[in-house]
Formats: sequence, C-alpha cells, structure tokens
Amino acid sequence: MSYEPTRADFAQPVRIDLYSDTHTRPSRAMKEAMMAAEMGDEQGGSDPTVWALCDMAAALLGKEAAVFMPSGTMCNQVAVATHCRPGDEILAHEDAHIQASEAGGPGAISGVMIRGLQGPRGVFSAETLQAAIRPVNRYSPPQTLVEVEQTANKGGGACWKVSELKSVADVAHAHGMRVHMDGARVLNAAVKLGVAARDVVADCDTVWLDFTKGLGAPLGAVLAGSKDFIGAAWQWKQRLGGSMRQGGMNAAACIYALQHNVDRLADDHANAASLARGMAQIEGITVETPETNLVFFDTKAAGLTAAEFAARLRPHGVTISVSDTYRGRACTHLDVDAGMIEEAVAIMRSVTAR
Ligand SMILES: *Cc1c(COP(=O)(O)O)cnc(C)c1O
Repeated sequence: MSYEPTRADFAQPVRIDLYSDTHTRPSRAMKEAMMAAEMGDEQGGSDPTVWALCDMAAALLGKEAAVFMPSGTMCNQVAVATHCRPGDEILAHEDAHIQASEAGGPGAISGVMIRGLQGPRGVFSAETLQAAIRPVNRYSPPQTLVEVEQTANKGGGACWKVSELKSVADVAHAHGMRVHMDGARVLNAAVKLGVAARDVVADCDTVWLDFTKGLGAPLGAVLAGSKDFIGAAWQWKQRLGGSMRQGGMNAAACIYALQHNVDRLADDHANAASLARGMAQIEGITVETPETNLVFFDTKAAGLTAAEFAARLRPHGVTISVSDTYRGRACTHLDVDAGMIEEAVAIMRSVTAR
C-alpha cells in the first residue's frame, strides 16, 4: 500500500497553501485561548470547556445535545454506527466523503452498505432518492439512513439549498429513515446562503461540523442530535477510542473559532471567486464556478494532468490538491489573502505557458 505523502514532499517551503482548508495554523490569539482554558476529564464528563463548546454547538445547530469528537471522520462513523444495524443500507451521493474517503469505515465498523446516488454538484434530488427506495420485504436490506454533505466537497463546495434538503428529508422521513448531515463545511453554506445554521440543518436528525476546515482550529468536530442519540453516540465514541482527557484545551480553540472565524468565511468565498476568475483567464484551464471556498478546475486543455500541474506549482511554493486525472482543487482559507491569490494566479499562468 502506498503511504504518501513523505517528508521529502515538505522539504521546500509552502508559501501559498491552496491544498486544503485543513492546513490552517492556529493563530496566536487562538493559542492564547487554549492556554487559558479550564480543563477536566472529558471522558468522565468533568471538563467545563468541553461542556461549554457542546452547549454552544447544540444551540448553534438547534439540536438538543452535542458531543465533542477528535475528527469529522469519527463523527460520521459514530453517527452511522448509532443510526444503523449490520445489513442496513445507507443512501448517499456517490461522491460522498463517507463513501470515498473514510477507508471503508461504514462497512468495516458498522457492517452497512452504501447505495450511491447521482446528481449534479454532489446534490441529489428527492425524485432520485424516491427512485432508490426499496420495497420492504424479506429480500431488501433495511434502508435506515440518508446522508447529505453540506457543502458537497467533490461537488465543488456546492451548497444544498434549504428547500432541496427539506424535500429530500421529507421523502426519507416518509419511509421511516433518518437524515444525517456531514456538515464538515456547514457554516460555509450558512454564510453563503445567508441562512442561520440551525435553519440550514433543521430537517436533519443529526449533523456535525468540523473545526479544522475554514474555522481554523487544530483539532475537533462536534456531532449534534437528540439527547437519546447523543447518549448512544457516546458509547460508540468510547468504543472507538474517541474519548478524551483534558479536551478543554482543544475545545477552547473551537470556541474561539466559533466566536471569531465564522463571519469571515465570506472572505474565503470572495477569494475563491477571484481565484476562479483569474484561473479562467489562463489558457488551457477550465474552471468550475465556485459557490464557497473550493475551486475545482480541469487541466486537460493545457496538456497537463492535474498532478503535473501541481508538481509545476510546487517549486514556486504553491500547493493545490489533485482530485482526478485532469481535475484539481484549490482551496481558500484564513491563511490565504487576496494578494496571495493574485500571486498564485500569476504563477499558474507562468507554469502553463508553452
Ligand atoms: C474533511 C471532511 C471530512 C472529514 O473530516 P476530518 O475532520 O478531516 O476527519 C468529512 N466530510 C467532508 C465533506 C470533509 O470535507
């Protein structure tokens, strides 16, 4: 099995990191909030800062309760394990993170199957969901969960509109299924749509949000839902080794992020729009119009694979990520400013020139 990347890949300094919004470094002010955090034993329920974060997150998302997790991946895996039994079928977009990027966790941990649904921008319609509903009989796998991703990562950072979520959730609930939202970037969607986060997620039974994407914290995610659901989720968190000790140190960074780094996500969206405009001017690069902070593009007409394009940028201190043979992704976040965007576009132009 290949086990990339290696240390050698990081030997050259990165100046303009468009690889991922997970690459943000905690600011000095965020670290000071961490230093000042009151702490206890998270696993035992005595860490006051973790409690404060869970209360804030539950209120923000309009759910009864929340639990702090080490990662978004664990939120998804714990949610699947809590919602489903072995043999169940989950309905999710075929490009969903839960399907493509979690090392087969739903099968390995929960014994469930995922049926991939199609739809543009990583979003599927209520009609597509309806058409995938199986008859309830002794042959069919029980269909217990519908999963949606907000924003849809491989869909280009696209937002599910509230009306799209509602119509999908109505079909799911009419068939006795629950709806789980992978809300890794749900606050990007809330800012973009101009809708309160609790209203964006109102039709979802469970939802989590990530603090390590555009919010800029070093670690952590929160999973929210009903009191009963979170109680059951806690057992899976314990089982998978996700319970923490002095979690307050990290929870303090997440609280800081909620207080200071949400509204500014609009800056990332503006920077992504300007990056997309600049890249669209480069001969051979075709850009998908971004909705939030992810800019996907195609390098084929430049006579380069996305990996070759990335390799040419790297010596100039610019990184992007490769999504497919000719599809690449550039991502804006709080460590990228407008000047860096301009410079990155100029470098991209120079490395594609023949
Ligand atoms: C990053 C991401 C995850 C996983 O979150 P981690 O905190 O990195 O484990 C899940 N879903 C989507 C859509 C993501 O972008």
